This record gives sequence, structure tokens and C-alpha cells, in this order.
Amino acid sequence: MKRLAWLSSIPLIALAALFAEFAHVSANAATPDYSIEAIRYGSAQDEVAGLVMGAPKDEKIEIAMVIWLIRGGGHNILFDSGYHRDTFLKYFPTTDYLRPDEAVKLVGLQPDEITDIVISHAHWDHLGGIDLFPKANVWIQKEEFNYYTGAAWQPGGDHGGIDPDDVQQLVKRNTEGRLRLVNGDNVEIFPGIRAYTGGHHTFSSQYIRIEGGPPFVLASDNCYLYRNLAEHKASATFTDAYHAANIKNQERMIQLAGGNPDRVIPGHDFAQFQKYPTTGRIAKIK
Ligand SMILES: [Zn+2]
Repeated sequence: MKRLAWLSSIPLIALAALFAEFAHVSANAATPDYSIEAIRYGSAQDEVAGLVMGAPKDEKIEIAMVIWLIRGGGHNILFDSGYHRDTFLKYFPTTDYLRPDEAVKLVGLQPDEITDIVISHAHWDHLGGIDLFPKANVWIQKEEFNYYTGAAWQPGGDHGGIDPDDVQQLVKRNTEGRLRLVNGDNVEIFPGIRAYTGGHHTFSSQYIRIEGGPPFVLASDNCYLYRNLAEHKASATFTDAYHAANIKNQERMIQLAGGNPDRVIPGHDFAQFQKYPTTGRIAKIK
């Protein structure tokens, strides 16, 4: 009897082990059901010709200053961090400003609860808020990090729109062990969230795709406005030589968003707060 019980338990143990293994594998493979919110931390006036290459001069537009929050899988991920230093404000006055760490409180999060910040590019209004979220891991393209902490400040370099204090904060985050360098195009950085290059808004800017039914693309300034997508016109790029690559990547963004341009969320377009249900400063994208 005892011997039989022992024997019969073997297949059960094997089955249990197999099931545990399967459960483990499928848990790893599963993409969390992420939520996506756009948080408007300010507004500004800009010239369309600076946002949509080839647009007529002297046309003005009100643009939104935005950070995006992705929640799921135990992470609270900011895509871009806004700014809080006044370095560039004399050139680019912002109205209706709310500091990004105060802005996340509007969706019920404390700044310390932001686990990660994915930086699309190093311009002041996207990188300049990382020190407001001291506990977050910061993710940036490796070539973007290398260029703007190095060659950009050497003769022949281009550091337009980069705040030296932001660079200090980026280096500090690295020495604290909380910087993650994303190495190139089509890299999964969280389950179901992939980073893409090729937009060339800056030296090595990135955009992200959030998997789900349906998928969404957060473009940041690799596509400033829906108008770039509709008119097949480039966003501002690191050099004009990248206009064609930028337009090609806008088409790629639409494909990555399952073919629907509304699900490509541009960097500064107020329309994201009209296309998606919006309360106050917050648009519920998904
Ligand atoms: Zn911007």
C-alpha cells in the first residue's frame, strides 16, 4: 500500500512541476493591461512652421506641454518628465504651468511612486524634470546619452535646446546606478513596451509602442502634431537631412499603432485632449 502510494504520487509531482513551469512561462510572456494617461503640465504659443516642416510661416498654434503616464505590471512609468528650471523660459514662455511632480498627484500618485522615466529625447522640456522623481530609473537611448554628455559640447557639436543642468542630473542618475541605456531600435524595455529610433528629432531620440488591444504609440517630438501625420510633413529633426527618415518613421508609427493615426500620440498636440476623454489636465488615452 505504502509503495503504491509512493508510485502514484510520481506522476502527480511531475504534473505539478510541469504546470508550475507553464504558469511561470506564461506569466513572463504576458503583457500587463497597461493604462495610458496624458498629463498636460502647461501650454505655450508656437509657430507651426517650427513644428511642421514646410508649413506656411507666421501661423501660430497653442501647444500642450505634456508628460505621459503608463501604469501596469507593478510599474508607474513616465514617458518624458517635463521641466522645472527657467533656463529656456525667456525664449519660450509657458502658461498654466504646474510642476510635473505636482501634476502626477492629480492622478493619485506621489512623486516617489514613479518607478521609471523613459526619456524620448534630451531637450529641456522633456528631460528637465527627472530630479523631481528621485526614486525612478531613467531610460534613454545610449547614443543620446553619449552625445549630449560629450560631443554636443565640443567644437562642431549641437546642444540646442539642451539645459546643462539637465545633463548634470542625467550623469548623477547614472552614478547613482539608476540610469538604463537603451541600445538602438526595436528594444523591449518592459514586457510589451518597445523603444524605437529613427525619428531623429535629436541625435538619437526614441518613441515607444505599448502593446495591447489596441496598441498605442507615444511619439513625443518625433511627431509634434497630428498635422505632421496628416500632411506627411517632417517634425523638426537633428539636421534637415533627416526629414525623409522622420516621415518614414511617422508611417511606421501608424503601422505600429495598428494602422490608426489617432493612436499615435504626438508630442505637443492639444488634440490628444479632444480625441480622448479628458478631465481637467488629464486625458485617459487607454
Ligand atoms: Zn518638446
